[in-house]
Amino acid sequence: MLREPGNRMGTDHPKAAYVHIPFCVSKCHYCEFNSYPGLDFLFSDYVDALVMEIERVSSHMEPAELDTVYFGGGTPTILPPADLSWILFTISDNIGIAPGAEVTTEANPGTVDQEKLSELRRAGFNRVSLGVQSFDDSFLARIGRAHSISQALDAYSAIRRAGFANVGIDLMFALPGQTVDIWECTLAAAVGLGPEHISLYELSIEEGTRFAELCAEGVLELPDEDEQIVMYELAIEKLTAGGYEHYEVSNFARPGFRSRHNQVYWRNDPYYGFGAGATGYVDGDRSRRIAAPSDYIRAISSGSDAIEFTEHLTGRAYLSETIIQGLRMLEGIDLNEFERRTGVDITKEFATQVNGLRDRGLIEIAGSRIRVTHTGLLLLNDVSREFLS
Ligand code: SF4
Repeated sequence: MLREPGNRMGTDHPKAAYVHIPFCVSKCHYCEFNSYPGLDFLFSDYVDALVMEIERVSSHMEPAELDTVYFGGGTPTILPPADLSWILFTISDNIGIAPGAEVTTEANPGTVDQEKLSELRRAGFNRVSLGVQSFDDSFLARIGRAHSISQALDAYSAIRRAGFANVGIDLMFALPGQTVDIWECTLAAAVGLGPEHISLYELSIEEGTRFAELCAEGVLELPDEDEQIVMYELAIEKLTAGGYEHYEVSNFARPGFRSRHNQVYWRNDPYYGFGAGATGYVDGDRSRRIAAPSDYIRAISSGSDAIEFTEHLTGRAYLSETIIQGLRMLEGIDLNEFERRTGVDITKEFATQVNGLRDRGLIEIAGSRIRVTHTGLLLLNDVSREFLS
């Protein structure tokens, strides 16, 4: 039985905030994110609306100190640095940011220079996540990125010169025409660059994207499933050999540089969400804001909270989701901590799933932790599906 009353199921005060900037230079061929090119004329109204939303939400909340703030997109750095600084200041002034907090902005090559980055650093940003994706211009063009590799390297140097000591880069694999050898060169280049954090994205073809059209036309040649697995395992081998800790399915970090913000999601902890299409998770309610920037601006300006969907996560749904997210981390879930937090012993409440997955060699219990095995990592969707049943 779930001891519902008194359980802390996502109801702690949020210690994290996500801010969505839904604008981009152009639309990448694989992109299904809430991002729009050609809306520069909305920048200023959007920033006003964001600030209004932050002030309005925080006026109902006890002041708190955020441990992480994350500006994602879209391309946050498409906005003038003064706008990003103003949004960050609004969060700091109205909610509070703890000393030593991780404050990240995503950035794309071609939208940053040293002056802009120095201004962001002075405003309090201390981490940049740079969308490199590939170290080969032909692949960047093939996936519709709006930048070259030399722009990515220039951006990386500018980030360092601006004083950022915590930099992450994103890399994509299983791209059309990409071979294992080409991927190996990409991994070597990434390790050679020396960021503190590397996130991997396996290409998936999403409805409504340019790649979905090309796929339907039968002109997209993608690596097969076996090659995808070889690429993933090669990444684990090369990045760990390069000094990176593989700490989450797709994420690697130098010691001490795990993404604190993303760990909030993987622990299923609460967080604020601000901006068009942003999801927040506060008081057990997961709520999503209106996606279209102009509709979001209109809603906020007319006094609405711009929330178009809310679900209250309780009981079994909350537990399943917390387990699924927690198993994404290689260290898995601390069973004692989970029980303290929810009142539930996973090995009893989910005995059928745990025993079945253990018998198949997909999860293991080591000491007080439950975690996926290497095989389980490759079959994580199967593992997750079990906990949804
Ligand atoms: S830069 Fe990122 S958010 Fe923008 S279109 Fe490309 S993938 Fe999408």
